[in-house]
Amino acid sequence: MTQYIFVTGGVASSVGKGVTVASIGRILKARGVRVSVQKLDPYLNVDPGTMSPYQHGEVFVTEDGAETDLDLGHYERFIDENLSRHSNVTTGQVYSEVILKERRGDFLGGTVQVIPHITNEIKHRIALAAKGGNPDVLLVEVGGTVGDIEGQPFLEAIRQMRKDVGRDNVMYIHVTLVPSIGATGELKTKPTQHSVRDLRAIGIQPDAIVLRADAPIDNALRDKIALFTDVEKRAVVPLTTAQTIYQVPLMLEEAGLGQFICERFGLNCEADLAQWQDLVNRLRAPKEKLRIGIVGKYVELPDAYMSVREALVHAALHHNRDIQVDWILSEDLEKDRGFERLSHVDGIIVPGGFGDRGIEGKILAAKYARVHRVPYLGLCLGMQVMCIELARNVLESDEPNSTEFDPGTKDPIIDLMEDQRSIADLGGTMRLGAYPCRLEEGSKARAAYGMENISERHRHRFEFNNRYREMLSNAGLEYSGKSPDGNLVEIAELRDHPFMLGSQFHPEFKSRPERPHPLFRDFVAAATEFPRDGKQEKLL
Ligand code: GLN
Repeated sequence: MTQYIFVTGGVASSVGKGVTVASIGRILKARGVRVSVQKLDPYLNVDPGTMSPYQHGEVFVTEDGAETDLDLGHYERFIDENLSRHSNVTTGQVYSEVILKERRGDFLGGTVQVIPHITNEIKHRIALAAKGGNPDVLLVEVGGTVGDIEGQPFLEAIRQMRKDVGRDNVMYIHVTLVPSIGATGELKTKPTQHSVRDLRAIGIQPDAIVLRADAPIDNALRDKIALFTDVEKRAVVPLTTAQTIYQVPLMLEEAGLGQFICERFGLNCEADLAQWQDLVNRLRAPKEKLRIGIVGKYVELPDAYMSVREALVHAALHHNRDIQVDWILSEDLEKDRGFERLSHVDGIIVPGGFGDRGIEGKILAAKYARVHRVPYLGLCLGMQVMCIELARNVLESDEPNSTEFDPGTKDPIIDLMEDQRSIADLGGTMRLGAYPCRLEEGSKARAAYGMENISERHRHRFEFNNRYREMLSNAGLEYSGKSPDGNLVEIAELRDHPFMLGSQFHPEFKSRPERPHPLFRDFVAAATEFPRDGKQEKLL
């Protein structure tokens, strides 16, 4: 029987609730407890797939092809378990389902209401997540903060859960921000008191409170919060801002939260975090820097490339390096700016993307990497621009393109597949989730993975156009990864280059702190060997 921990937020959003939830998952897993995690997102969108990265950051893709909140990336990286589409529920999904049922007549003429119909649908979806992996503990994070209008049905649903599954099987943890005020930096508990009061007004008494603050939280402050909120003092857990997010499980464990949860749930209390501790020690130790340029269109917004960044951190740690990411705006390269910044990096990544803004700059970044032999890793769109760039060079023309950016191009190096075209108008044509891929003997890709058959997660519409296979093969491109039927190019790499490889899939989603992704690992290895001299300030 699954037990539930519901995590709510108070005072402000973006205080690291997702990382806190992921970390609780990790300290439970360290006790041999089987955990899974679910995020309830109160916004009305059905999923973040169509939301702007400015609004939402990265779209994280699960094995089964759901486009989900980036917090799922934290969950997977921290608990090292694959999640599914049941792990992310939005108000949009809940309402569409209830309205569909209403149109079908499922409610037999009854009035359809937020309580019980919407709340029942929410609880049904929580049950689905629990059924999926049949975890001992399901952690459920409610997005946003207490008091948000959209969040209310979710809070009501998790309130009811206590009665449904029994109070011994449910815990509520509230994560709040403790701001510091004025020149003295005095920490203020009042907002926390207010948000707990809001929570109690709905009928939820938190069992534990996690206090996020930039400065250390002393005992007197914890006493005060315990007094005002009726939470045991030992369950008032301070969480000051960490040097790395991977430190958070250790901080929560040290504060006794793991012990507290296990006592409440009657679980094994013996935790083994030795390996995680070792990971954090290595992360925090001073190391030589490695500079990687990420050429994208949201450089002022690192959240948009969250998993790419984390995958780099994992890979660099494997090689005992610290990563410094240089964010380079692809549109700058189009204006002939930014090449001097590229001259200071040890490796270049062109990450995934949609739409034509900044595309020419990404093609120039691929050219720079090819000409100056800078290690290059192309992720989805990054692979496509790498192929387009090579074709432009072969044909000595600017014509080669993707039909995504130039529908009328005479050289559609990247295009929709024939069987996609007819359904393209209807939407829903993305290749999403895990697909198998077979690697060619003797390639860099094969050497990285050390096996022939792999599976990776996709999120794209366009594919490499097979009509151009021979032409680019003659120019030194190897199709080192293909779909098992050989029809789709999944990985392309340049033969005569220290490391220039692009994948049609997104390897970043499968990287784990203790298991860096093979492609990132070998890309970073090549970057550590790149003799950067800062001299190549021009494209050519
Ligand atoms: N826009 C490209 C496509 O749809 C690449 C997508 C991506 O990078 N995820 O094929």
